[in-house]
Amino acid sequence: QTNLGAEGGKEYNLSQDNELRFEVENNEIVQMEIKEGLAEVFGSELMKNRIYKFASGSKIAVFTWQGCKILLRGKTEVAYVSKETPMMVYLNTHAALEQMRQQAELEATRGPKVMVVGPGDVGKSTVCRLLLNYAVRVGRRPTFIELDVGQGSVSVPGTVGALLVERPADVEQGFALTAPLVYHFGATSPGANMKLYEILTAKLAEVFAMRCKTYSRIAQSGCVINTCGWIKGEGYQSLKYAAQAFEVDVIIVLDQERLYNELVRDMPSFVKIVLQSKSGGVVERSQGFRRFTRDEKVREYFYGFNCCYYPHSFEVKFVDVEIYKVGAPPVPNSCLPLGMTPEDNQTKLVPVNPGPEIVHHLLSVSLADTKEDDLLSTNVAGFIVITNVDMERKTFTVLSPAPRPLPRRYLLLSDVRFMDIK
Ligand code: ATP
Repeated sequence: QTNLGAEGGKEYNLSQDNELRFEVENNEIVQMEIKEGLAEVFGSELMKNRIYKFASGSKIAVFTWQGCKILLRGKTEVAYVSKETPMMVYLNTHAALEQMRQQAELEATRGPKVMVVGPGDVGKSTVCRLLLNYAVRVGRRPTFIELDVGQGSVSVPGTVGALLVERPADVEQGFALTAPLVYHFGATSPGANMKLYEILTAKLAEVFAMRCKTYSRIAQSGCVINTCGWIKGEGYQSLKYAAQAFEVDVIIVLDQERLYNELVRDMPSFVKIVLQSKSGGVVERSQGFRRFTRDEKVREYFYGFNCCYYPHSFEVKFVDVEIYKVGAPPVPNSCLPLGMTPEDNQTKLVPVNPGPEIVHHLLSVSLADTKEDDLLSTNVAGFIVITNVDMERKTFTVLSPAPRPLPRRYLLLSDVRFMDIK
């Protein structure tokens, strides 16, 4: 490690299989450049002499299989080189999955469906990104299924979705989000509505199965499923449910022997379950930081990466839309109408009258054409945020990525809120 002075930055010489880990300080930007050798960030190859910029709060690992020289400029909270990484294990996992894909190609069947599970902050999303990047780098077209409604990367918080991965993730921005398939969940923990979470999981599994029937390349490439860090009680049930719905072939359990043993006990024997250790580099994120990243995700939806978009703001008349919330508040069983179960209550569409209480809430614009379409399991066109409600004029103002008018009439209210201030 060489200190080149305040402007010059710091140079790090990495031997093969080493990793430079750094975190960017609050309100700072760190620039990174590969001066010599080859390196990658979470499976995306880096170009030599190109300057990569990482924003406040980023937690990055630059790994090299061959050795490299890296230059860092800017304020990092920490920056150190680690010789101990589980990258070889992850690469071997990729090699095993690739063999399954080759087999699928030969036999014209389908490739591996892999689910990554584990408690919070063990690097599940990072392992998904690695496996997807390695697959796409050898010419596959894997599908990324995002079931993490809290810290998902396919769309805004409070949603689940699927993304066909056609090129490696951009080092700074992540996977290109062209045409993801997104469903409204409306909260940042599956526990807010387990029934709806199951319905959406099953829907994504069904849509993926349909795509596999139509496109053999998608079928043979398989999918990688990211899950929530909630692994106890109902959280565990939802993992089992997802495994069954997708008929997964492989489950990668990160850093939790107990969860591994439970899955070995409960899954059919043809499901391969592997326990892998987490990377020592994965950073634990506080509740506050998680809120911050959720907020940033919504901001990025409207304003683009590095504020490259200009969202629209316009008024919508109350009469032009219908707002619903999925799920009625729980009531004791004895108060439910005859023949109804608490689960029916969870899937009920409750009309919401516009009022001041919905200001700052995120709303999903459903692609449903009529109310007879199943609003719950129809994917969404996009999202708006209510920035003001005018009860006298019976209008509300929205922040929208597209100009008026709204493409559809049906809006689903999310618990996720966003204040349009910076
Ligand atoms: P969640 O509980 O939210 O689902 P997770 O298990 O998916 O979390 P990740 O999001 O993959 O965890 O990782 C947590 C953080 O650690 C991320 O900011 C990621 O960039 C960072 N990170 C992952 N691996 C490394 C590493 N080897 N070195 C440095 N930072 C890392």
